[in-house]
Amino acid sequence: MGADVTTLSVGDLVVAPFQWSDNTCPACLDGIQTRCEHGGTFGAPGTDGGQGEAVRVPEGDGTLVAVPGGLEGTDPALLTGLLALTDVAATGLHGAVLAGVTQGSTVAVVGDGAVGLSAVLGATTVLGAERVILMSRHTDRAELGRRFGATDVVAERGEEGVAKVLELTGGLGVRHVVEAVGTPESWEMSLGMARVGGRVGAVGVPHTSPQLGIFTPFRQHLTLSFGVAPARRYLPDLLTRVLAGTYDAGAVFDLTIPLDSVADGYRAMDERRSIKTVLVP
Ligand SMILES: [Zn+2]
Repeated sequence: MGADVTTLSVGDLVVAPFQWSDNTCPACLDGIQTRCEHGGTFGAPGTDGGQGEAVRVPEGDGTLVAVPGGLEGTDPALLTGLLALTDVAATGLHGAVLAGVTQGSTVAVVGDGAVGLSAVLGATTVLGAERVILMSRHTDRAELGRRFGATDVVAERGEEGVAKVLELTGGLGVRHVVEAVGTPESWEMSLGMARVGGRVGAVGVPHTSPQLGIFTPFRQHLTLSFGVAPARRYLPDLLTRVLAGTYDAGAVFDLTIPLDSVADGYRAMDERRSIKTVLVP
């Protein structure tokens, strides 16, 4: 532990988001720790990665959240739940927050990966959404989505998927859409199913740089919100929920493999054999 770290003790059980941050700069104080002045991403070129038996964590005080009770006082079954808080659980919740989901909302989630499913859990459990339409055509993912609180599952994609959501909402569309994929197709669907005046919260990294047409959002009076999710912002609250046994964030993990077989884990996720994979030493 570095000499300047004051909030942690050697031996603590800690959770680190996928980016480090000081949690004190203007961006951090605004809750956007992923734009921290002194922040960075684990695994980026020149930095230490998280998929190892040990990792050096910069900005320990700002980055890490200690788990009360430590390893000995924590139910081992809850460890995967804590692991989920490092990224997917917080990212999904952030999508729902960006989409403006509140008590009683109707929301659609585009994307049934771990982030999309976590958006369902966050929208229902944390934000109080009443109706959640999950776009999913994989049985196992749809099933978990329902367990997380999805009230409707739409297997159709593209225009058919949009038509189905409009049909489910009396032709109006939904006020809140979480875009959790980041492809041109998922954006098109998200914009197509948003109700006039609605909000789209996007946490799907735009891998393929969709050339987003601005006319539809303009014509439909839409609010679009984006960004790499500041997992650190949500960590303390979600950690309390996981430890209380009221937030099953770890349910997205359906495959556990040894650390030295990491490539198999990526392959399993790529081939949709696993929603999310856990590596163990
Ligand atoms: Zn900062």
